[in-house]
Amino acid sequence: MPQSPTHLNRLEEPRLPGWDADPSLPPFRKRAWVEVDLDALENNFRLIRAHLPPSVKWITVLKDDAYGHGAVPAARLAAKCGAAMIAVSNLEEALALRREGIQTPILIFGETHPEEAPCYLEHNLRPSVTTSEAGAWFDREARRRGVRLPVHVKVETGMGRYGVRWTEAIELFRKLRDRPGILLEGVYSHFARSDEADKEFARLQLSRFKETLEAAAREGMRFPLRHICNTGGFLDLPEAHLDAVRVGILHTGVYPSAVCRRLPGLRPAMSVKARVAAIRQMEPGDNVGYGLRYQCPSPRRIAVIPVGYGDGYPRVRNEGWVLIHGRRAPVVGANAMDATMVDVTDIPEARVWGEATLLGKQGEEEITAHDIARWKGTISYEVLVGWRERLPRVYVSGKKNA
Ligand SMILES: *Cc1c(COP(=O)(O)O)cnc(C)c1O
Repeated sequence: MPQSPTHLNRLEEPRLPGWDADPSLPPFRKRAWVEVDLDALENNFRLIRAHLPPSVKWITVLKDDAYGHGAVPAARLAAKCGAAMIAVSNLEEALALRREGIQTPILIFGETHPEEAPCYLEHNLRPSVTTSEAGAWFDREARRRGVRLPVHVKVETGMGRYGVRWTEAIELFRKLRDRPGILLEGVYSHFARSDEADKEFARLQLSRFKETLEAAAREGMRFPLRHICNTGGFLDLPEAHLDAVRVGILHTGVYPSAVCRRLPGLRPAMSVKARVAAIRQMEPGDNVGYGLRYQCPSPRRIAVIPVGYGDGYPRVRNEGWVLIHGRRAPVVGANAMDATMVDVTDIPEARVWGEATLLGKQGEEEITAHDIARWKGTISYEVLVGWRERLPRVYVSGKKNA
């Protein structure tokens, strides 16, 4: 078979939306990309739904582009797998989904400016309400249109972030109840420590939330959707599931921490891959990278991976590894904005243009988001969302280990 560049491109490269799929350009090979396995995403969505009793609704949290996986494809899959509602952080994220025809109800976690109220009504978006002033804007706008807007009241029970303090929530409920344009559909709170082994604070938050709900119930106010669980709570605090859970990171196949319960069959959906850009034979005493942080103790074969901190890869020094031919190639020296050097002396099959995996599996070896988080001094969440736009997203399905 002729090995023309076109042929190689078609054979090995997923050609998908984005700048490199431009038919007016001759084909060229991707330097590096983020690969999202849609089968894994769907598998994880189904697992989450299957681990909830039918009476508990599943709200899928797709903020920050579904934790870097692509909010639109994730929203389509989640709807197919039984998500009752989507939650995002802000109006831009919600409108991006509506623009693509996503019709699932959407809850917005963040705060609202008064001038934004019409946008919620126009696009069927549920706001989080934390003040009576916000209630008034939404009420006015809804009545003007002759409808009731479903809202979720956000109650602060110990996270110290958004929401009305639990001790003052009942006042707000009363004010909102008296507004004909407002439908009190939901009430929620958020855990500060649900994914750690010590659940004491989570239980305290749950009891504050429940006290608030009981006080409301005594005045005849019942919310159809009471929710407090994120992934940590969903996994480890079944007594807190209430009417709905808000699950975010888990659908990516990554756990919020090392200690929470595991769901057998969950699979990471994101990989990051690159092509080896160069391989050099080094002599003893030769240095690698900025600051001369690595000196070859013996003849070494060094591969250059064309990815660096400019792509969202951590800034590392002699730390971490990438996978080449199913084996670990350790990072040597300090990496740069556009390049990370690895030692392939023990991987003779390594060749220029060969595939290197920076996140994900190759053969039996795997680099997890938690591994990269350790090198980067952060948490798995930041690793998932930290890949820059410089790396095109490539969606794959119907392949291998499905
Ligand atoms: C991000 C977020 C979630 C989801 O958290 P995960 O740990 O990713 O499941 C749930 N609720 C609120 C309010 C959030 O901001």
